Amino acid sequence: MDKPKVGIYGLTGCAGDQLVILNCEDELLDLVGSLDIKSFSMAASGADDQCQLDIAFVEGTVVQPDEEKLLKDIRQRAKLLVAIGTCAVWGGVTAMKNEVDPKKFIEQVYGPAGKVFEVIPPQPLSSFVKVDLSLPGCPIEKEQLLRGVASLLHGDLPKLPNYAVCTECKMAEYPCILVEKGLPCLGPITVAGCGARCPSYGLTCNGCRGPVDDINVASEINILKEKGFTWVDIQNRLRTFAAPAPPLNLQTLEEAKNA
Ligand code: SF4
Ligand code: SF4
Repeated sequence: MDKPKVGIYGLTGCAGDQLVILNCEDELLDLVGSLDIKSFSMAASGADDQCQLDIAFVEGTVVQPDEEKLLKDIRQRAKLLVAIGTCAVWGGVTAMKNEVDPKKFIEQVYGPAGKVFEVIPPQPLSSFVKVDLSLPGCPIEKEQLLRGVASLLHGDLPKLPNYAVCTECKMAEYPCILVEKGLPCLGPITVAGCGARCPSYGLTCNGCRGPVDDINVASEINILKEKGFTWVDIQNRLRTFAAPAPPLNLQTLEEAKNA
């Protein structure tokens, strides 16, 4: 049987998710051996960027018209498209202020020379194309990636957690940073999958995996207000990694604040 043809692509981002793939050390040879990797510019030259693909993995946020065009071309060639990392799934830090015209940022950073850059408001992949599977994380979790690839090779979609980081944290019996230290932990509204890594080190969850389904953002806002955080602090914290996500857009947050 032919090996599945795979392409691994990066749009705007830090390439951390592609690094996670390269860091699969023990599993990398099995992974490479079971796939026919047609494009992975971080790891190999000589990409075939015309061929049909069984699976395309795409990292990063769409911030330029050329990236939108590339993404649509990948989608058109791929049977399955997997968004890898929070930038691809939710927009990531690049989309933190996506309601502000990006041309203003370009002007501030580069001055008149910035006119050469063509930019559009940063958006996740799903704003432009159908996404078959989303693996969030900043960066992705290696185990989720490997399980995802194994499921896709068997013709299934992997089962991903649909509960919050808080659940993982409580199951591991870590002390609650929000309750005990009064620090602004986003574990109650962030999708699980990292094993509550940050609370395990006594640090707050910063929401890097993006919102969980059925997010109760009004409750999180109320708790943070009770702890004495200002509305500006709360908004900035909630919108660091997934500002374009519907539960975290400015209008939804204003409604939740007044609920
Ligand atoms: S530390 Fe954070 S993730 Fe853990 S239980 Fe408290 S609020 Fe939830
Ligand atoms: S605890 Fe929160 S910030 Fe830390 S890795 Fe998990 S989702 Fe990301």
